[in-house]
Amino acid sequence: MDNQGISSAADIVIVGTGHGGAQAAITLRQQGHDGTITMIGRDNVPPYERPPLSKEYLAGDKSFERIMIRPEKFWADKGIELRLGSGVSAIDPAAHVVTLSDGSTVGYRKLIWAGGADPRRLGVPGANLKGVFYVRDKGDADAMMAALESGARRAVVIGGGYIGLEAAAVLRKLGCEVTVLEMLDRVLARVAGPQLSRFYEEEHRRQGVDIQVSRGISEILGEDGAVTGVKLGNGASAECDMVIVGIGIVPAVAPLIAAGAAGSNGIDVDEFCRTALDDIYAIGDCAAHANPFADNAVIRLESVQNAHDMANTAARAIMGDKQPYHALPWFWSNQYDLKLQTAGLNLGYDSTVLRGDPATRKFTVIYLKNGRPIAFDCVNAMKDYVQGRKLLESGVGEIEPALLADTDIPLKDMA
Ligand code: FAD
Repeated sequence: MDNQGISSAADIVIVGTGHGGAQAAITLRQQGHDGTITMIGRDNVPPYERPPLSKEYLAGDKSFERIMIRPEKFWADKGIELRLGSGVSAIDPAAHVVTLSDGSTVGYRKLIWAGGADPRRLGVPGANLKGVFYVRDKGDADAMMAALESGARRAVVIGGGYIGLEAAAVLRKLGCEVTVLEMLDRVLARVAGPQLSRFYEEEHRRQGVDIQVSRGISEILGEDGAVTGVKLGNGASAECDMVIVGIGIVPAVAPLIAAGAAGSNGIDVDEFCRTALDDIYAIGDCAAHANPFADNAVIRLESVQNAHDMANTAARAIMGDKQPYHALPWFWSNQYDLKLQTAGLNLGYDSTVLRGDPATRKFTVIYLKNGRPIAFDCVNAMKDYVQGRKLLESGVGEIEPALLADTDIPLKDMA
């Protein structure tokens, strides 16, 4: 490697200090890697968990220390250098060098890109007014908490996905008036079937949230630079003093694409998380891969499980222990006293079975494809989740819907 003009070099450089980046560094050390590891992150605080940002952290139930992935001193103890507060803006794959936004450069032997994603921004007039918030990093959550602290009490949430609904639940708990605006005809449409969507819509309404579906917006209204309301697609408006936007994410991969990596929705990786560029891996939210639990469809997953397991795959491959990525997807979401746990992917399902009664607030929706269960959405149903996961991992075949629906028969007996 030509080190001329390079301000430093590390054996392994990890870009991104989120779930994937942190886990990759941890696994490298656990696997006995004794070379230098440098993690470069735009965040200016040590690695932390993102899920609590729309749950316990936002609610004030967990401090920042409690959501750190490891205590601050862990990284230095393990000889992992953290370069925080400065992002990678360019990569020279031939020279094996990254350039940071502060102008410095770092050489690498292997590079792991764990840049995650940025929130998709609103494209309507008024989107930059004070009081419009996104929920992706600690700074976002802190800004929202500061607004609440200074008296914001009427919130409009744009987007009825998991993050929007979780934020809505927390804001209700904190005593806010909350409206959720969802453009599609049901909440959670991108990730769950109609039964689950209807259940969550009803639950939020019961909790006092004004859920409006099939409701686009045309403008964020403001006065003196601050939000005062949202103009809806039907011409009506909703008054508010804060707007929370949860309309999806965009993979943070621009430098990698500019460097020549392949990918149209994130970065394409193979089963060892290798990109098309020599010695560069990509993991987590930004990595498009052929997923064995989705009939090898090329998808990106946005979950802690995926970031964590891909980090292990990439780190092991770098250490010479090449094992194809083969991890059952799982996910969770907490809203009010409802704990949703999902196992598997429901992509392409052609029927569902309801197991249990939603009125009891404990039930499971089972997604089937050609008679075979492919995913379980379990609401307050821990046993179904654990046993459903095992069924999927064992490569379960067809099961009679009537059997699946019978709560007297444990799922484990259907293997
Ligand atoms: P991230 O954790 O996002 O980390 C990426 C890091 O890279 C960031 O720190 C970013 O600043 C940095 N970065 C980006 N570009 C650059 C660059 N050019 N240079 C340097 N650094 C860069 N998942 C679940 O499974 N369950 C949940 O309940 C859940 N809840 C969530 C709630 C919220 C509010 C959010 C935001 C996410 C939630 N997720 C949940 C998703 C989960 O957090 C992500 O899937 C996971 O964090 C992905 O890990 P990652 O390492 O790919 O990306």
